[in-house]
Amino acid sequence: MRILSLISELFSEKKCFSCRKLGHFFCPKCLDDIEFYKPYCYLCKKPSDQFYTHKDCIPHFPLRQVIVLTRYRHPGIKKLLRHAKYYGKYQWYKDLTKWWKNFFQDNVISKNSIFTPIPTPLMRRWKRGYNQTQKIAEYLSDIVDIPVNNRALKRWIYSKQQSHLSQSERKKNLEGSFHVIKNSLSKDTTIYLIDDIVSTWSTLLEATKILKKWWFTDIRAIVLASD
Ligand SMILES: [Zn+2]
Ligand SMILES: [Zn+2]
Repeated sequence: MRILSLISELFSEKKCFSCRKLGHFFCPKCLDDIEFYKPYCYLCKKPSDQFYTHKDCIPHFPLRQVIVLTRYRHPGIKKLLRHAKYYGKYQWYKDLTKWWKNFFQDNVISKNSIFTPIPTPLMRRWKRGYNQTQKIAEYLSDIVDIPVNNRALKRWIYSKQQSHLSQSERKKNLEGSFHVIKNSLSKDTTIYLIDDIVSTWSTLLEATKILKKWWFTDIRAIVLASD
């Protein structure tokens, strides 16, 4: 798989997802169509500076900030994220994060922060040859100068693929699926969980729950697309 993805990397040329024009994943014209989120609170969806969770919303939602770049339902974004995740085209994340360098730099707090990619189950990582959230974290790390730490949060080996499950099944499937391994991080470290797509909050909440059990207090997230 690793070799296959390297080969596809070498031979694939950039083509606009929407209009098939060569040279860009999104040509400037199609880029104009993409709707970007104005900073809002992830719980109540009302505007909030730098995507912070409102004070009144925090008791119902433990992440202090959830930065969401764009909407998954845009056909071009959907395609880009699917190919980057399943077909070895993870370098497309690089373009995506680089284009919106200012967006990330404006919204991310870099002091005493780490990027923690949401771990994928081991079997799936083997099949694909990479963890897509790790790739996103690495590209983000290049533009905002926050180290990637993928050692603290781990996933137990077995868990079913979330996308085939109903919302209540997802929640059940996720319960207890993460664990934290002993680490030397200080408890006031700002932890940014990194994920590609979020359709329900269950994964972020489950990861947050386990980190809070380990006395980490400042948990946030960066997500490329949400519906
Ligand atoms: Zn285009
Ligand atoms: Zn709110």
